[in-house]
Amino acid sequence: MKLLLPETVRDALAHMAGRDGVTTPIAGGTDLLVHWPVRLGERDRTYVDLWQLQELKPLRWTADALILGGLTTYWDVIRDRRAGDEFPLLVAAARQVGAIQIQARGTWAGNIVNASPAADGVPALMAYGAVVVLESQRGTEEVPLDGFYTGYKDMRRRPDQLIVAVRIPRRRYSYQTFAKVGSRRAQSIAKVGLAVTQSDDGWRVVAASMAPTIRRCPAIERLLQQGAVLRDSDDLLPAIARDVSPIDDVRSTAEYRRRVMARVLYDELRETCGWR
Ligand SMILES: Cc1cc2nc3c(=O)[nH]c(=O)nc-3n(C[C@H](O)[C@H](O)[C@H](O)COP(=O)(O)OP(=O)(O)OC[C@H]3O[C@@H](n4cnc5c(N)ncnc54)[C@H](O)[C@@H]3O)c2cc1C
Repeated sequence: MKLLLPETVRDALAHMAGRDGVTTPIAGGTDLLVHWPVRLGERDRTYVDLWQLQELKPLRWTADALILGGLTTYWDVIRDRRAGDEFPLLVAAARQVGAIQIQARGTWAGNIVNASPAADGVPALMAYGAVVVLESQRGTEEVPLDGFYTGYKDMRRRPDQLIVAVRIPRRRYSYQTFAKVGSRRAQSIAKVGLAVTQSDDGWRVVAASMAPTIRRCPAIERLLQQGAVLRDSDDLLPAIARDVSPIDDVRSTAEYRRRVMARVLYDELRETCGWR
């Protein structure tokens, strides 16, 4: 096993380009270390540790966006007061991730590439219309996060590309909420996760643990856009059935997840949407 420690992004990209897919970047390592190779045969790998790359660390504000660097951690966002004011769902999601140790080490980019259907950071980013900025020796590519995943753990990222930033456009929000249902309040994996926003760009409803990837829910977004009047949470079930396809697993049944999603969404939105 080889561990490379580049000091610049340029050097890191050179390492990533050389070995065509067998080079794995490490950011906080909180996901990678859980799956760290334990058998000898699995150790024939090269890792590029990004942690020294100061260029990827700052969290920056511009006139029209918040830019998270490729190494911005949850804790960086929690302690940025402006993020709490303008993007409260990011802070709410960050506070849900593991415990403080994980929040201090885990990165938003790592959460995106790990691609867990139950991730907490990704739904909040997607509800804010985040764009993933990828870089390789071949150049820069930008992919909207809501089009980034192509299947379970599949995504529009080539093995030689690093996420160098996540750009979140600054918009005026009239509604925003984040909800996570787990078996307890702290340190749990979502059975159902939701991030919902309304801005001048329309509604965004993002569901976690309801499909092989975190995804937007276009049928529900249409209902909201049209100002549909609902009488109870069951009225959301047909749209939920069109948008998501949860699995039965050790945490919950698919039926339970659909019903919980309907109840949570209905309760969160009823006042704003004027439902009973
Ligand atoms: C105890 C514990 C509790 C946890 N709780 C939660 C939780 O509540 N909610 C939640 O969502 N997650 C949770 N996680 C998972 C994890 O902490 C997050 O997914 C975290 O954001 C991963 O970031 P990282 O920087 O540690 O990623 P790493 O482990 O370093 O990497 C993860 C993946 O991303 C790739 N990668 C990392 N950075 C880049 C980059 N810049 N460009 C390209 N590829 C990159 C790596 O190659 C790897 O495939 C938990 C993990 C642990 C160990």
